[in-house]
Amino acid sequence: EMAEDGVIWQNGEFVDWADATTHVLTHGLHYGTGIFEGVRAYDTEQGTALFRWDEHLDRFYQSAKPYDMEIEYSREELTEATLATIRRNDLESAYVRPIAFYGYHSLGVSPGDCPTDVVVAAWPWGAYLGEEALEEGIEVMVSSWRKHASSQIPTNAKTTGLYVNSMLAGEEARRNGFAEAIVLNKEGNVAEGPGENLFLVRDDTIYTPGLSESILDGITRDTVITLAEERGYEVNDTTSISRGELNTADELFFTGSAAEVTPIRQVDNVVIGNGSRGPVTEELQQAFFDLVERRTDEHDDWFTYV
Ligand code: PMP
Repeated sequence: EMAEDGVIWQNGEFVDWADATTHVLTHGLHYGTGIFEGVRAYDTEQGTALFRWDEHLDRFYQSAKPYDMEIEYSREELTEATLATIRRNDLESAYVRPIAFYGYHSLGVSPGDCPTDVVVAAWPWGAYLGEEALEEGIEVMVSSWRKHASSQIPTNAKTTGLYVNSMLAGEEARRNGFAEAIVLNKEGNVAEGPGENLFLVRDDTIYTPGLSESILDGITRDTVITLAEERGYEVNDTTSISRGELNTADELFFTGSAAEVTPIRQVDNVVIGNGSRGPVTEELQQAFFDLVERRTDEHDDWFTYV
Protein backbone atom coordinates (compact mmCIF):
# COMPACT_ATOMS: atom_id res chain seq x y z
CA GLU A 1 0.00 0.00 0.00
CA MET A 2 1.24 3.43 -0.96
CA ALA A 3 1.82 6.49 1.18
CA GLU A 4 -0.79 8.54 -0.72
CA ASP A 5 0.59 11.77 0.57
CA GLY A 6 3.94 13.44 0.19
CA VAL A 7 5.62 14.33 -3.06
CA ILE A 8 6.89 12.55 -6.16
CA TRP A 9 9.63 13.80 -8.48
CA GLN A 10 8.24 13.86 -12.02
CA ASN A 11 10.21 15.14 -15.00
CA GLY A 12 12.30 17.58 -13.03
CA GLU A 13 9.85 18.85 -10.47
CA PHE A 14 8.16 17.81 -7.28
CA VAL A 15 4.42 17.27 -7.49
CA ASP A 16 1.92 16.23 -4.86
CA TRP A 17 1.43 12.46 -4.66
CA ALA A 18 -2.11 12.64 -6.08
CA ASP A 19 -1.05 14.83 -9.00
CA ALA A 20 1.74 12.55 -10.24
CA THR A 21 -0.38 11.29 -13.15
CA THR A 22 0.07 10.45 -16.83
CA HIS A 23 -2.22 10.31 -19.86
CA VAL A 24 -4.17 7.09 -20.58
CA LEU A 25 -2.62 6.98 -24.07
CA THR A 26 0.91 6.82 -22.69
CA HIS A 27 3.08 4.56 -24.86
CA GLY A 28 4.54 2.71 -21.89
CA LEU A 29 1.08 1.83 -20.58
CA HIS A 30 0.09 0.20 -23.87
CA TYR A 31 3.32 -1.58 -24.77
CA GLY A 32 5.27 -2.05 -21.56
CA THR A 33 8.02 0.26 -22.76
CA GLY A 34 9.40 1.41 -19.47
CA ILE A 35 12.46 0.58 -17.42
CA PHE A 36 12.71 0.90 -13.68
CA GLU A 37 14.63 0.23 -10.51
CA GLY A 38 13.76 -0.92 -7.01
CA VAL A 39 16.16 0.38 -4.39
CA ARG A 40 16.09 0.45 -0.62
CA ALA A 41 17.17 3.20 1.72
CA TYR A 42 17.88 1.83 5.18
CA ASP A 43 17.63 3.50 8.55
CA THR A 44 21.27 2.88 9.46
CA GLU A 45 23.33 3.63 12.55
CA GLN A 46 24.77 6.57 10.56
CA GLY A 47 21.40 7.88 9.36
CA THR A 48 19.27 7.08 6.35
CA ALA A 49 21.29 5.71 3.43
CA LEU A 50 20.58 4.35 -0.04
CA PHE A 51 22.11 0.90 -0.52
CA ARG A 52 24.18 0.44 -3.71
CA TRP A 53 22.60 3.44 -5.41
CA ASP A 54 25.45 3.69 -7.95
CA GLU A 55 24.85 0.14 -9.16
CA HIS A 56 21.10 0.68 -9.39
CA LEU A 57 21.72 3.86 -11.37
CA ASP A 58 24.13 1.99 -13.67
CA ARG A 59 21.47 -0.64 -14.34
CA PHE A 60 18.82 2.05 -14.87
CA TYR A 61 20.79 3.63 -17.72
CA GLN A 62 21.83 0.22 -19.09
CA SER A 63 18.21 -0.98 -19.12
CA ALA A 64 17.23 2.01 -21.29
CA LYS A 65 19.79 1.23 -23.99
CA PRO A 66 18.10 -1.57 -25.98
CA TYR A 67 14.97 0.59 -26.24
CA ASP A 68 16.88 3.65 -27.51
CA MET A 69 15.42 5.49 -24.58
CA GLU A 70 17.22 8.75 -23.85
CA ILE A 71 17.12 9.66 -20.20
CA GLU A 72 17.69 13.38 -20.22
CA TYR A 73 18.70 13.58 -16.56
CA SER A 74 22.28 13.03 -15.44
CA ARG A 75 23.39 10.72 -12.64
CA GLU A 76 23.88 13.79 -10.45
CA GLU A 77 20.37 15.07 -11.19
CA LEU A 78 18.71 11.71 -10.50
CA THR A 79 20.75 11.26 -7.34
CA GLU A 80 19.78 14.70 -6.07
CA ALA A 81 16.13 14.07 -7.06
CA THR A 82 16.14 10.81 -5.12
CA LEU A 83 17.79 12.18 -2.00
CA ALA A 84 15.40 15.14 -2.02
CA THR A 85 12.40 12.83 -2.47
CA ILE A 86 13.41 10.87 0.63
CA ARG A 87 14.04 14.06 2.62
CA ARG A 88 10.86 15.85 1.56
CA ASN A 89 8.78 12.82 2.46
CA ASP A 90 10.48 12.53 5.87
CA LEU A 91 11.37 8.88 5.31
CA GLU A 92 13.78 7.15 7.66
CA SER A 93 13.77 4.05 5.52
CA ALA A 94 12.22 3.70 2.09
CA TYR A 95 11.68 1.69 -1.01
CA VAL A 96 12.68 3.89 -3.94
CA ARG A 97 11.21 3.46 -7.41
CA PRO A 98 12.87 5.33 -10.27
CA ILE A 99 11.10 4.71 -13.58
CA ALA A 100 11.53 5.97 -17.15
CA PHE A 101 8.96 5.24 -19.84
CA TYR A 102 7.88 6.33 -23.29
CA GLY A 103 5.20 8.90 -22.63
CA TYR A 104 2.30 10.53 -24.42
CA HIS A 105 2.62 11.55 -28.05
CA SER A 106 1.54 8.84 -30.51
CA LEU A 107 0.54 5.19 -30.27
CA GLY A 108 2.39 3.44 -33.05
CA VAL A 109 4.49 0.65 -31.62
CA SER A 110 7.45 2.68 -32.76
CA PRO A 111 7.82 5.28 -30.01
CA GLY A 112 8.69 7.93 -32.59
CA ASP A 113 8.56 11.30 -30.90
CA CYS A 114 7.19 10.06 -27.61
CA PRO A 115 8.96 11.81 -24.75
CA THR A 116 10.78 9.79 -22.11
CA ASP A 117 9.10 10.53 -18.81
CA VAL A 118 11.22 10.05 -15.71
CA VAL A 119 9.80 9.67 -12.21
CA VAL A 120 11.24 8.94 -8.77
CA ALA A 121 8.90 7.94 -5.95
CA ALA A 122 9.67 6.68 -2.44
CA TRP A 123 7.53 5.24 0.30
CA PRO A 124 7.92 2.99 3.35
CA TRP A 125 7.89 -0.72 2.49
CA GLY A 126 8.55 -3.48 5.01
CA ALA A 127 9.67 -7.03 4.28
CA TYR A 128 8.47 -7.89 0.75
CA LEU A 129 7.37 -11.42 1.57
CA GLY A 130 6.55 -10.64 5.21
CA GLU A 131 8.61 -10.49 8.43
CA GLU A 132 7.81 -14.11 9.18
CA ALA A 133 9.19 -15.17 5.81
CA LEU A 134 12.63 -13.81 6.72
CA GLU A 135 12.80 -16.07 9.78
CA GLU A 136 10.75 -19.09 8.88
CA GLY A 137 11.28 -19.24 5.14
CA ILE A 138 8.61 -19.61 2.48
CA GLU A 139 6.97 -22.33 0.43
CA VAL A 140 7.38 -21.83 -3.30
CA MET A 141 6.01 -23.45 -6.43
CA VAL A 142 7.88 -24.16 -9.63
CA SER A 143 5.82 -22.17 -12.10
CA SER A 144 4.24 -23.64 -15.19
CA TRP A 145 5.28 -20.38 -16.88
CA ARG A 146 8.80 -20.14 -18.28
CA LYS A 147 10.96 -17.05 -18.14
CA HIS A 148 11.43 -15.04 -21.32
CA ALA A 149 14.58 -16.29 -23.01
CA SER A 150 17.23 -13.61 -23.35
CA SER A 151 17.05 -14.27 -27.10
CA GLN A 152 13.46 -13.01 -27.01
CA ILE A 153 13.79 -9.95 -24.81
CA PRO A 154 16.81 -8.65 -22.90
CA THR A 155 16.21 -10.23 -19.51
CA ASN A 156 19.09 -8.26 -18.00
CA ALA A 157 17.21 -5.00 -18.62
CA LYS A 158 14.67 -4.21 -15.91
CA THR A 159 11.80 -3.55 -18.29
CA THR A 160 8.22 -2.96 -17.14
CA GLY A 161 6.75 -5.29 -19.81
CA LEU A 162 8.77 -8.23 -18.47
CA TYR A 163 6.76 -8.20 -15.29
CA VAL A 164 3.58 -9.63 -16.81
CA ASN A 165 5.52 -12.90 -16.79
CA SER A 166 6.43 -12.28 -13.15
CA MET A 167 2.82 -11.54 -12.29
CA LEU A 168 1.56 -14.70 -13.99
CA ALA A 169 4.09 -16.86 -12.17
CA GLY A 170 3.58 -15.22 -8.78
CA GLU A 171 -0.20 -15.28 -8.94
CA GLU A 172 -0.26 -18.88 -10.10
CA ALA A 173 1.83 -19.77 -7.06
CA ARG A 174 -0.38 -17.79 -4.67
CA ARG A 175 -3.56 -19.30 -6.11
CA ASN A 176 -2.06 -22.66 -5.27
CA GLY A 177 -1.26 -21.68 -1.70
CA PHE A 178 2.43 -20.84 -2.14
CA ALA A 179 4.10 -17.55 -1.24
CA GLU A 180 6.12 -17.17 -4.42
CA ALA A 181 7.23 -18.91 -7.62
CA ILE A 182 10.47 -20.28 -8.98
CA VAL A 183 10.60 -19.73 -12.73
CA LEU A 184 12.51 -22.02 -15.07
CA ASN A 185 14.15 -20.69 -18.21
CA LYS A 186 13.32 -21.85 -21.71
CA GLU A 187 15.90 -24.64 -21.42
CA GLY A 188 14.11 -25.88 -18.31
CA ASN A 189 16.84 -24.92 -15.86
CA VAL A 190 16.27 -22.76 -12.81
CA ALA A 191 16.30 -19.06 -13.65
CA GLU A 192 15.02 -16.98 -10.73
CA GLY A 193 11.92 -15.83 -8.89
CA PRO A 194 9.43 -13.32 -10.31
CA GLY A 195 11.37 -10.54 -8.58
CA GLU A 196 14.26 -12.35 -6.91
CA ASN A 197 17.43 -14.23 -7.72
CA LEU A 198 17.83 -17.75 -6.36
CA PHE A 199 20.68 -19.33 -4.40
CA LEU A 200 21.29 -22.99 -3.58
CA VAL A 201 23.57 -24.39 -0.85
CA ARG A 202 24.92 -27.93 -1.09
CA ASP A 203 27.81 -29.33 0.99
CA ASP A 204 28.76 -25.81 2.10
CA THR A 205 29.20 -24.64 -1.48
CA ILE A 206 26.93 -21.90 -2.78
CA TYR A 207 25.47 -21.94 -6.28
CA THR A 208 23.43 -19.39 -8.18
CA PRO A 209 22.41 -19.53 -11.87
CA GLY A 210 24.87 -17.76 -14.18
CA LEU A 211 24.05 -14.59 -16.09
CA SER A 212 23.44 -16.57 -19.29
CA GLU A 213 20.45 -18.35 -17.68
CA SER A 214 18.04 -15.48 -18.64
CA ILE A 215 18.14 -13.78 -15.26
CA LEU A 216 18.33 -10.22 -14.04
CA ASP A 217 21.86 -9.36 -12.89
CA GLY A 218 20.69 -8.75 -9.36
CA ILE A 219 22.49 -6.28 -7.15
CA THR A 220 21.55 -8.22 -4.00
CA ARG A 221 22.86 -11.33 -5.79
CA ASP A 222 26.20 -9.58 -6.16
CA THR A 223 26.10 -8.38 -2.53
CA VAL A 224 25.44 -11.89 -1.22
CA ILE A 225 28.15 -13.41 -3.44
CA THR A 226 30.59 -10.86 -2.03
CA LEU A 227 29.54 -11.44 1.59
CA ALA A 228 29.75 -15.23 1.13
CA GLU A 229 33.22 -15.10 -0.42
CA GLU A 230 34.41 -12.79 2.36
CA ARG A 231 33.28 -15.45 4.81
CA GLY A 232 35.29 -18.13 3.03
CA TYR A 233 32.53 -19.82 1.07
CA GLU A 234 33.10 -21.10 -2.42
CA VAL A 235 30.50 -19.51 -4.71
CA ASN A 236 29.71 -20.81 -8.18
CA ASP A 237 27.81 -18.06 -9.99
CA THR A 238 28.30 -19.27 -13.56
CA THR A 239 26.41 -22.52 -13.35
CA SER A 240 23.14 -24.05 -14.51
CA ILE A 241 20.85 -25.50 -11.86
CA SER A 242 18.45 -28.22 -12.93
CA ARG A 243 14.97 -28.50 -11.48
CA GLY A 244 15.92 -31.75 -9.76
CA GLU A 245 18.79 -30.11 -7.92
CA LEU A 246 16.29 -27.96 -6.04
CA ASN A 247 15.01 -31.05 -4.27
CA THR A 248 18.43 -32.25 -3.11
CA ALA A 249 19.64 -28.83 -1.92
CA ASP A 250 20.65 -28.41 1.71
CA GLU A 251 19.30 -24.86 1.58
CA LEU A 252 17.65 -22.50 -0.89
CA PHE A 253 17.05 -18.78 -0.62
CA PHE A 254 15.92 -15.79 -2.65
CA THR A 255 17.67 -12.43 -2.88
CA GLY A 256 16.40 -9.06 -4.06
CA SER A 257 16.24 -5.41 -3.13
CA ALA A 258 12.63 -5.94 -2.08
CA ALA A 259 12.92 -9.56 -0.87
CA GLU A 260 16.36 -9.00 0.78
CA VAL A 261 17.48 -12.52 1.83
CA THR A 262 14.44 -14.80 2.13
CA PRO A 263 14.86 -18.51 2.98
CA ILE A 264 12.91 -21.13 1.01
CA ARG A 265 11.78 -24.08 3.10
CA GLN A 266 9.70 -26.00 0.60
CA VAL A 267 9.49 -26.32 -3.20
CA ASP A 268 6.19 -27.81 -4.39
CA ASN A 269 5.71 -30.91 -2.21
CA VAL A 270 9.41 -31.24 -1.32
CA VAL A 271 10.75 -30.03 2.03
CA ILE A 272 14.19 -28.45 1.60
CA GLY A 273 16.87 -29.48 4.11
CA ASN A 274 15.36 -29.54 7.58
CA GLY A 275 12.37 -27.44 6.49
CA SER A 276 13.43 -24.19 8.09
CA ARG A 277 16.02 -21.46 7.54
CA GLY A 278 19.36 -23.22 7.07
CA PRO A 279 22.60 -22.23 8.81
CA VAL A 280 24.36 -20.80 5.74
CA THR A 281 21.26 -18.81 4.82
CA GLU A 282 21.03 -17.50 8.36
CA GLU A 283 24.69 -16.49 8.42
CA LEU A 284 24.42 -14.62 5.11
CA GLN A 285 21.09 -13.07 6.02
CA GLN A 286 22.59 -11.81 9.29
CA ALA A 287 25.62 -10.50 7.43
CA PHE A 288 23.31 -8.78 4.95
CA PHE A 289 21.23 -7.00 7.59
CA ASP A 290 24.33 -6.10 9.64
CA LEU A 291 25.72 -4.56 6.47
CA VAL A 292 22.67 -2.63 5.24
CA GLU A 293 21.84 -1.31 8.69
CA ARG A 294 25.52 -0.31 9.15
CA ARG A 295 26.22 -2.38 12.23
CA THR A 296 29.58 -2.98 10.53
CA ASP A 297 31.77 -0.41 8.80
CA GLU A 298 32.50 -2.62 5.79
CA HIS A 299 31.73 -1.51 2.25
CA ASP A 300 31.03 2.09 3.21
CA ASP A 301 31.30 2.92 -0.50
CA TRP A 302 28.03 1.02 -1.04
CA PHE A 303 26.10 3.68 0.87
CA THR A 304 24.79 7.06 -0.22
CA TYR A 305 23.77 8.99 2.85
CA VAL A 306 20.59 11.00 2.69
N1 PMP B 1 15.20 -10.87 -10.73
C1 PMP B 1 14.13 -10.14 -11.04
C2 PMP B 1 13.27 -10.58 -12.16
C3 PMP B 1 13.84 -8.97 -10.32
O1 PMP B 1 12.77 -8.23 -10.61
C4 PMP B 1 14.68 -8.59 -9.24
C5 PMP B 1 14.38 -7.35 -8.45
N2 PMP B 1 14.96 -6.21 -9.04
C6 PMP B 1 15.78 -9.39 -8.95
C7 PMP B 1 16.02 -10.52 -9.72
C8 PMP B 1 16.73 -9.02 -7.86
O2 PMP B 1 17.52 -7.92 -8.26
P1 PMP B 1 18.08 -6.88 -7.23
O3 PMP B 1 18.81 -7.65 -6.20
O4 PMP B 1 18.97 -6.00 -8.02
O5 PMP B 1 16.92 -6.15 -6.65
